[in-house]
Amino acid sequence: MTGTPEAPSSARHLVVVGGGMVAQRLVEALRDRDTAGSWRITVLAEEPRRPYDRVALTSWFSGRSAEDLTLGDPQLWHDPLVTLVRGDAVTGIDRTARTVTTASGRTERYDHLVLATGSSAWVPPIEGADLPGVFVYRTLDDVAAIRGYVEDLASRTAGPVRGAVLGGGLLGLEAAGALKALGAQPTVLQFGTHLMSAQVDLGGGEALRRLINGLGIGVRLHAETTRLRAHRRGGVGRLDLADGGRVDADVVVVAAGVRPRDELARAAGLPIGARGGVVVDDTCLTDDPAVSAVGEVACIQGACLGLVAPGYAMAEVTADRLLGGAARFPGADTATKLKLAGVDVASFGDAFATTPGALEIVWADPVGGVYKKLVLSDDARTLLGGVLVGDASAYASLRPMLGRELPGDPGAYLLPEGGAGAPDLELPDDAGVCSCNNVSAGAIRHAVTEGGCTDLGAVKACTKAGTSCGSCLPLVKKLVTTELEKLGVTVSTALCEHFALSRAQLYDAVRVAGVRSFSEVVARFGTRAAGRGCDICKPAVASILATTAPAHVLEGERATLQDTNDHVMANLQKDGSYSVVPRIPGGEVTPEGLIAIGQVAQEFGLYTKITGGQRIDLFGARIDQLPVIWGKLVDAGFESGHAYGKSLRTVKSCVGSTWCRFGVQDSVALAVMLELRYRGLRSPHKIKLGVSGCARECAEARGKDVGVIATDKGWNVYVGGNGGFTPRHAKLLAEDLDTETLVRTIDRFLLYYVRTADRLQRTAPWIEEVEGGLEGVRAVVMDDSLGIAADLDAQMALHVEEYEDEWRATLDDPEKLRRFAAFVNAPTEPDPSLAYVPERGQARPATAEERAAALRGEPVLVAGSTLEVR
Ligand SMILES: Cc1cc2nc3c(=O)[nH]c(=O)nc-3n(C[C@H](O)[C@H](O)[C@H](O)COP(=O)(O)OP(=O)(O)OC[C@H]3O[C@@H](n4cnc5c(N)ncnc54)[C@H](O)[C@@H]3O)c2cc1C
Ligand code: SF4
Repeated sequence: MTGTPEAPSSARHLVVVGGGMVAQRLVEALRDRDTAGSWRITVLAEEPRRPYDRVALTSWFSGRSAEDLTLGDPQLWHDPLVTLVRGDAVTGIDRTARTVTTASGRTERYDHLVLATGSSAWVPPIEGADLPGVFVYRTLDDVAAIRGYVEDLASRTAGPVRGAVLGGGLLGLEAAGALKALGAQPTVLQFGTHLMSAQVDLGGGEALRRLINGLGIGVRLHAETTRLRAHRRGGVGRLDLADGGRVDADVVVVAAGVRPRDELARAAGLPIGARGGVVVDDTCLTDDPAVSAVGEVACIQGACLGLVAPGYAMAEVTADRLLGGAARFPGADTATKLKLAGVDVASFGDAFATTPGALEIVWADPVGGVYKKLVLSDDARTLLGGVLVGDASAYASLRPMLGRELPGDPGAYLLPEGGAGAPDLELPDDAGVCSCNNVSAGAIRHAVTEGGCTDLGAVKACTKAGTSCGSCLPLVKKLVTTELEKLGVTVSTALCEHFALSRAQLYDAVRVAGVRSFSEVVARFGTRAAGRGCDICKPAVASILATTAPAHVLEGERATLQDTNDHVMANLQKDGSYSVVPRIPGGEVTPEGLIAIGQVAQEFGLYTKITGGQRIDLFGARIDQLPVIWGKLVDAGFESGHAYGKSLRTVKSCVGSTWCRFGVQDSVALAVMLELRYRGLRSPHKIKLGVSGCARECAEARGKDVGVIATDKGWNVYVGGNGGFTPRHAKLLAEDLDTETLVRTIDRFLLYYVRTADRLQRTAPWIEEVEGGLEGVRAVVMDDSLGIAADLDAQMALHVEEYEDEWRATLDDPEKLRRFAAFVNAPTEPDPSLAYVPERGQARPATAEERAAALRGEPVLVAGSTLEVR
């Protein structure tokens, strides 16, 4: 920003009404470019604070303070040419006198006036909408009021606070996530057929519903609220629905839409759009050449746009025009990428395939909770749009390709992480990368090659790319890295924009500093932007803390850092149900244990399958059944198998010398011992071990991260074996070890990996990249070349000592149990979307055709997850 010490006497006066996101961008853009100081600016803001990041409002519930949310460089408001008046709403405009007046009686004369008054939440005219306990979700004051109300209720009532959110769009889901974060039990009531219907199609909406349900948030579709009724204590107590149903709720958040705040413009006689909003042309001018409107209040090209990116574009156009430029609004990019309560959702371009002849390619993995769709031109070449739910990692690469031919097979963009993968794109220079700030691939490359930027932070500061919603950051980072590599510059290994350290460096820092929570890690080691973290650093920090400061995964703030499956300590399945995997160390199980598992499976109608890791997977459990099922399994002596976590999965073993004629060592006993030793060890990725009783290798141990094969003299240990998309055979680390040395070697190998690997890096690529490769690992683990062996040994001893079964601990804690409910307002009501058919003597999820047949009344469907096998 260029500071100008004093306003030249000729400086004209710009008055901006509203101190929101777009006003802030306008002031910033104008002060950046107006080096001559030809404008002095007064911002009149109704809210009592500096402009803040409304898009990130929900992060306030996960610990980000109002101060953290403040936008931009605070110095902007100390610029002598800028005056910010807070807490004083403008009440009238006199266009003839060119003045505005405020509630406090202040009058400002303007040379140019910009209306940046945004929108207000729309509350439908429903009886009872004014009851105490009914809120909207727009400002920091709103969220503070919601929190106060919920916390007060929780302290006065015995049961959980029940919440309802009217509206299943973007804001409604954000509000539901916020209620959940407050410990309430929310249900989203959506009038239409599916969630986020403005952004995603039916398939995406259904996938989203399952994922949201999985987080313990109830969803009712086709739900029209007709009346809100008071509880006898005075506040809201229940909602009546048009279909005769009702939903009990102690707190209600209305997120049914927004309306532009065009009341000042109306009163001043400016033209208003058919559906509200101040009508402006492509230069953001109203029909009064001295008045512009920007952001959500502006009706531009016939519509009010409820996203921040077009608002920022309008701010840039206005700044340019005020300085005599010729900029025009380029058209709205309504692409959206969000993380709603931990669920990724993205939608861009022609998401509903309305272009004539458009083709849709859909990839749905209900097991992994993922739905992805690309919309292509009729020759299947040009990308027209897309919908991504559950995994939006492809968004950053795809969105800039809108309107362009995709190189290679479009389907490759939809495959999961670790699949063949999207072809590497060489984006054309004019491809837009950051839509919020209108930054092209060429501008980012230029910042590196000509602008002297040598890391992501510098490129962000220079171009503003990635500084708003942040969804383009992976792509920006990739472009910066590629350009720097071309220039021969060493590239930063920062974990993400919130931590300048690599994962390994952060691990060391956290361990040495002894910090115990995400907030502390952010405060000590985060960058200035680190407040709320992101889906890269939050699970990474959760994993780091799990071994440096062990605590339950659902303990306090840690619960908010976990990935989807860890949230409920179970694996989400394709139909929205969960699977349950008790630990069966070394694959050894007693007949009583088998009977107990069988009884649980029978009682709850669970599909039962033996896994590749030699244990038993029980499929089809509803979220609300998980605690009951686990109660029975824990009583029978089982514990969590951590099938959901990035942690030790199984130690597979052959039958070994006890029974096998060829066996030279007791592979089962060793496998059981190793599994009990490393159970619950959180790591950068999942870890699997195998033990074979002789060189015949029946346990396929060399396909594991750590494989142990018995020899006449002891044990050979191999490391770095992986299955999956890139299978690798493990390589020999050491030969003929006695059991004690073997265990110590594995202890050190695993912890060295846990400490130094990148996030989501499995052992095979880690060994390739770690200093010295396999030789380097051997030197550290066997010869203590770094002098850290004693430390690694002590850390593993602590892990073994502190281990506790996560499910047993959860069953003992009513607070943690609260997250396990299907329909939180009707905890005993099974999820009607779960439907099963019998097959080979068990239940399996019904196909779409079978569901359709059932709806036609044909007798093929067995609803509910407990069924009589026919
Ligand atoms: C919870 C939430 C999540 C969102 N998530 C996203 C998202 O993921 N992506 C996205 O693109 N957008 C999102 N949005 C929308 C985004 O926040 C808005 O598009 C953006 O804030 C619009 O900026 P604005 O400056 O036009 O309006 P606002 O930010 O609303 O600012 C307008 C300001 O003007 C003030 N004002 C109004 N009238 C007067 C007056 N008479 N006098 C003085 N001041 C006045 C208001 O008090 C307000 O402070 C979200 C919004 C919310 C509430
Ligand atoms: S690996 Fe060897 S000991 Fe184990 S089952 Fe196979 S032959 Fe037997």
